[in-house]
Amino acid sequence: MSSTHKRIQRPNSLWEDTLSAGERCDEEPLESSIRADITIIGAGLTGLWSAYYLSQQLPDADIVVIDSAGVGFGASGRNGGWASALLPMGLQRVEREHGRDAAKQLQTEMHSTLDEIQRVLATEGINAAEQRGGTFTAARSAPQLKRVTHEVSTYQRFGFGDEYHFLNGAAAREVCNMSELAGAMFTPHCIAVNPTKLTHGIGRAVVRNGARILAPVRATALGRGSVTTDKGTISTRYIVQATEGYTSNIEGQHRNMVPLYSMMIATEPLPDDIWDTIGLANRPTFDDTRHLIVYGQRTADGRLAFGGRGAPYHFGSAIRPTFDTNTTMRNRIRAALVDLFPAARDARITHHWGGPMGTPRNWACSVHANWSDGVVTAGGYVGDGMSATNLFGRIVADLIAEREHDSGQHDRSDLLCLPVVGPPSRRWEPEPIRWMGINAGRVAARFADISEHRKGKTSRFFGGVIDGLLRR
Ligand SMILES: Cc1cc2nc3c(=O)[nH]c(=O)nc-3n(C[C@H](O)[C@H](O)[C@H](O)COP(=O)(O)OP(=O)(O)OC[C@H]3O[C@@H](n4cnc5c(N)ncnc54)[C@H](O)[C@@H]3O)c2cc1C
Repeated sequence: MSSTHKRIQRPNSLWEDTLSAGERCDEEPLESSIRADITIIGAGLTGLWSAYYLSQQLPDADIVVIDSAGVGFGASGRNGGWASALLPMGLQRVEREHGRDAAKQLQTEMHSTLDEIQRVLATEGINAAEQRGGTFTAARSAPQLKRVTHEVSTYQRFGFGDEYHFLNGAAAREVCNMSELAGAMFTPHCIAVNPTKLTHGIGRAVVRNGARILAPVRATALGRGSVTTDKGTISTRYIVQATEGYTSNIEGQHRNMVPLYSMMIATEPLPDDIWDTIGLANRPTFDDTRHLIVYGQRTADGRLAFGGRGAPYHFGSAIRPTFDTNTTMRNRIRAALVDLFPAARDARITHHWGGPMGTPRNWACSVHANWSDGVVTAGGYVGDGMSATNLFGRIVADLIAEREHDSGQHDRSDLLCLPVVGPPSRRWEPEPIRWMGINAGRVAARFADISEHRKGKTSRFFGGVIDGLLRR
């Protein structure tokens, strides 16, 4: 990459600091207008997995991936590193909207997506410091216990009982010695990863497969055979839009997806005696069932990387580098971590960062093809995209390959029948309604958590506010 190209400042994430020069995926500049068969906007995991599978299904296609900042600049390179089988919609909602069989099929596909990710990492020789240690979801109050047992029984009702277990207090403490632990759900379906190493590793595999990654190149308009960028026009047959949390920056799309910020901290490496107290020996990722989600992992080098939601939504879906850190959120997240693990109270916080998660109005991720414009759009993971990006990359590739082969005669890929393939969400409300609604939901969630912790009773208020304002 030429040093004359201006770089957008990268966030101070722990993961970025661990990437060696040899692991980095370098990009090429775009110097003039070009032609390509497939143009992918966004070099996060959605864009890169799409490029990876497209280059295998259509080996003769000329594929370019462009990014306004560079490989892994977005959420893909700076997240919590949970490659889980979660989707933002949850099994029950998918069942309500698409039926039981569709919900079960989607969940089964998410489980096998983890195997697929591990297969590609092994095949491509990518070391993302990964460990398939599962997820430990703690219950630390009576309302949380109710939610955990409900989740376990939901998975059992769908026939996944062997894969989602309830652990009583004593059994839970054997895995993870959190404070106030009343029980937990454990599932083996999660890989703890270093997301920056994973994203750059896939980027390098994409380049080895013959695709080009161009950055910094910002798309300003797209559709009907071309992508207009700040460096020239790309004439193209297909466009894949994989801009997720940054979508509001594209002209005409500011109400398609709102950027909700999730923030993280990382501690220094902790000594063995603290790990003996905390547990997490097999590196399961961990959370509890409070309303304002928190999430953590024990990293390969013995740190706690821990994050949480609840940062302010910025008027007009604004996205700025200064929003990637927030001292109030840093302090809240640290307090939440020390509350979970008092043994870590003196640990130095070495990193603090954050980023936007793409959030559609219906709170459901999807892949949508608009063939009249030649555009396939994928995303909307609301903070659960690490594994889903792989599934969505395969769906994008199947959609374009099917279209390219004009395959009325071929059997449809099973992936194209999943309930995530379909029309996009309706748009968000205009401002200031959007700002008021989202921030009201955020504050309601925080107060519901405080109230549940103090009173030990489920907060009805939060359920009503969040469902009414955000999820529907
Ligand atoms: C702090 C944080 C923690 C998270 N933790 C987890 C977790 O533990 N597990 C999990 O499953 N999910 C997590 N997520 C969510 C997950 O990271 C995302 O769902 C996923 O990475 C989305 O990938 P993506 O490729 O669609 O988007 P991104 O990785 O955001 O990539 C979008 C890319 O598009 C580029 N772009 C945008 N606009 C343009 C344009 N106009 N022209 C050119 N390029 C453009 C951006 O520069 C960016 O690189 C977290 C997110 C955050 C922010």
